[in-house]
Amino acid sequence: MEILTTVLSVTVISVSLAIIIIIAEYFFNNYGECEIDINNGDKILKVEGGSSLLSTLAAQKIFIPSACGGKATCGLCKAQVIEGAGPLLPTEEPYLSAEDRNNNYRLSCQVKVKNNIRIIIPEEFFNIKEYITTIEKIEQLTHDIKGLRLNLPEGETIKFKAGQYMQLYTKPYGKIKESVYRAYSIANAPSDNTAIELIIRQVPDGICTTYVHTQLSENDNVKINGPYGDFYLRGNCDEIIMIAGGSGMAPIKSIILDVLEKGIDIKMNFFFGAVTKRDLYNLDYFENLAANHANFRFIPALSKPAPEDNWKGEVGLITDVVARNIDDGSKMEGYLCGSPGMIKACINVLNTKGITEDKIYYDKF
Ligand SMILES: Cc1cc2nc3c(=O)[nH]c(=O)nc-3n(C[C@H](O)[C@H](O)[C@H](O)COP(=O)(O)OP(=O)(O)OC[C@H]3O[C@@H](n4cnc5c(N)ncnc54)[C@H](O)[C@@H]3O)c2cc1C
Repeated sequence: MEILTTVLSVTVISVSLAIIIIIAEYFFNNYGECEIDINNGDKILKVEGGSSLLSTLAAQKIFIPSACGGKATCGLCKAQVIEGAGPLLPTEEPYLSAEDRNNNYRLSCQVKVKNNIRIIIPEEFFNIKEYITTIEKIEQLTHDIKGLRLNLPEGETIKFKAGQYMQLYTKPYGKIKESVYRAYSIANAPSDNTAIELIIRQVPDGICTTYVHTQLSENDNVKINGPYGDFYLRGNCDEIIMIAGGSGMAPIKSIILDVLEKGIDIKMNFFFGAVTKRDLYNLDYFENLAANHANFRFIPALSKPAPEDNWKGEVGLITDVVARNIDDGSKMEGYLCGSPGMIKACINVLNTKGITEDKIYYDKF
């Protein structure tokens, strides 16, 4: 009897608490209609309060760059919030410099729309569009990298700069009950403007990469939006050095194709680093390009070739290979794409070759 009374009391208390929380949520999180003023009255949106600024704008088809899907881990979704943002959150602090803070920059994924807000965003964000694409082709490039070609809807085209990226949306699958989105660099040339090619490496237990690698098939529909990013060719020089690892080949491939197609008079050196031969892909493709274009040099390198690889090319860490193959970089620009560790090490080696930081551009994956 005593046990029954205790169980009953606990149940009553739990249910009462749950009801109180639901009622509180309704009253305190119900912010009603709010107004978002964009660029001093250029656009005024009437929205339902309660969600992040990033997702509220996305629901209105205004897309702010983001690579982590609103988790405050990429720091890309900065926007100037002139009024109505509330206090700065600890989650934003690592991504905002003193200058950012003085200029009212905030991470739009962390700012909740609770009242009227005034924001300033670059005009180019209005050109970012959403596309429901159809997968034309999925190719297994290595044991953990897939290449995808996504066709835009019939009659639609996209304008992007070689080196930029798109955001790809997942659908709920398995234990993943929500849709997320992640950034993926465009691998095709801008002239190929009715499709988007992506190169995606499987991250163990990664939500989006597992979705791409295990759930998607040819002819499936995939939602993407973009283009985003400022990783593109500046070309204020006669020669560039490009270094990539893994799926970091994607934006570099787009830049190379663009330069060759447009006949831009720039010498290109492309260093591609992998561990063993099973991590290499598109070798024939780039060797063929190099054989047919005097201004393009391709240097693949393996850091730990297996005996059965029978590898005759460069061996060593990509930084050592770059150091051996570049003498004077003082008149070059550097373009890097890969893991944060690789980027850091490559910046150091480029500095020793005379390429200053202001001439080095990168996307960290
Ligand atoms: C501008 C930009 C362009 C990008 N372009 C590409 C591209 O062309 N191709 C590509 O494959 N990726 C690219 N990325 C990375 C991509 O956006 C995702 O971060 C990555 O695919 C992992 O997503 P996920 O949802 O599978 O993993 P999540 O579910 O986000 O992460 C799961 C776990 O894995 C860890 N993790 C996340 N990413 C990595 C990683 N790269 N290596 C090791 N551990 C990781 C996380 O810390 C977490 O613990 C790009 C990123 C940026 C910022």
